[in-house]
Amino acid sequence: MSTPWKEAIRGATRARRAAPHAPSEAAGSRFPFRAPAEFLALADPADPADPIARQVVPSPEEDDDAPGFDGDPVGDRAHRRAPGLIHKYPGRALLVLTSACAVHCRYCFRREFPYADEERGGRAGEAALAALAADPSVREVVLSGGDPLVLPDPALAGWVERLAGIPHLRRLRVHSRVPGVLPQRIGDGLLAAFRSRLPTWFVVHFNHPRELSPGAVKACGSLVDAGFPVLNQAVLLRGVNDDPDVLAELFEGLLDARVKPYYLHQLDRVRGAAHFEVPGGRALEIVEAVRGRVSGLAMPAFVRDEAGRASKTPVRG
Ligand SMILES: *Cc1c(COP(=O)(O)O)cnc(C)c1O
Ligand code: SF4
Repeated sequence: MSTPWKEAIRGATRARRAAPHAPSEAAGSRFPFRAPAEFLALADPADPADPIARQVVPSPEEDDDAPGFDGDPVGDRAHRRAPGLIHKYPGRALLVLTSACAVHCRYCFRREFPYADEERGGRAGEAALAALAADPSVREVVLSGGDPLVLPDPALAGWVERLAGIPHLRRLRVHSRVPGVLPQRIGDGLLAAFRSRLPTWFVVHFNHPRELSPGAVKACGSLVDAGFPVLNQAVLLRGVNDDPDVLAELFEGLLDARVKPYYLHQLDRVRGAAHFEVPGGRALEIVEAVRGRVSGLAMPAFVRDEAGRASKTPVRG
């Protein structure tokens, strides 16, 4: 009853216990395995290619070197304005509140981000806030990470209050996978922490329809009921959702949960993630097949993140 991915979880856990900081052959020790039990429970233990497990369980394929896949695929390091502050696109800046995430997604483009250089809080937090206050061109702040919703409610409330005090800011955005992977985190204290003069949008991250568990749907509903519009970004991933039926079910399921599909991302070419890439031609075929069968409301923009551009770039044929 033991599938290969269950073995891989055991292996990664053992490697981490044995040598928590040492570089090792095992992919799981460079970017350790992490997933809440609730999320793993959505995986089918009888399916060796399970799409939930594939997103989070370290794979030996991560050690394959693929040309074009490197440590900073989207060129974020060139746009650092202060510790934890990345200002890459006009009008909006991204604030890295923490390096921690509730789940470690194996395809994450930040898996090699030098978070140790980005210590936040204290003086570093002050520097980022001062940089935002000094730049009236910034209208929108994206709270990101890591995953901002792993911070405790009082810390979040503190950031929101300081940001709301910067007069030229007009809105906040929160990018988080927590509503999907740890839905019980979305409670009254969290909702209260985000109440401010700033209209606040949540952008969640679901890749497969099975992630829309009753708990996750309820968490998204609580955000919407509290007055926060919720959008989704998904990543097109080989072996997870590279199938028009799966994506159509995901996007329609999100709408049913009152979540608007916003972006479908072409994979960022980060080292260790090449086995998730869907080649460009096939990717466009999939997206067009989905368009032919879902509500227009359900259709996200299919984009890629290219270094040196002023926005995400639409992927076209
Ligand atoms: C994606 C991204 C944003 C937000 O871009 P939108 O197209 O407005 O969603 C902002 N800053 C950075 C660094 C990003 O990567
Ligand atoms: S939750 Fe987001 S930032 Fe964290 S590992 Fe997953 S994709 Fe990366």
